[in-house]
Amino acid sequence: SLMITEECIACDACREECPNEAIDEGDPTYMIDPDRCTECVGYYDEPSCVGACPVDAIIPDPDNVESVEELKYKFEQLQNEE
Ligand code: SF4
Ligand code: SF4
Repeated sequence: SLMITEECIACDACREECPNEAIDEGDPTYMIDPDRCTECVGYYDEPSCVGACPVDAIIPDPDNVESVEELKYKFEQLQNEE
């Protein structure tokens, strides 16, 4: 999963970019739900939120490091949910 750092200026640019609806407003910074972030595996080659962020506040979460296989599995679970 990726995470949003305290550099976030709450501009909202990333939220619409997320195919998994993993990004939400937080207080005071935006937040990524680690149960929904597949690092865009299943959709794109690169995490689409990262490029949208004007202050580079979206980084890999050191507490939620996942393999591509784990991210694919999460993607499939999220598909089944819908
Ligand atoms: Fe959403 Fe992809 Fe960003 Fe994860 S990396 S929060 S899935 S846009
Ligand atoms: Fe925060 Fe960056 Fe998302 Fe804007 S794009 S809300 S600064 S994480």
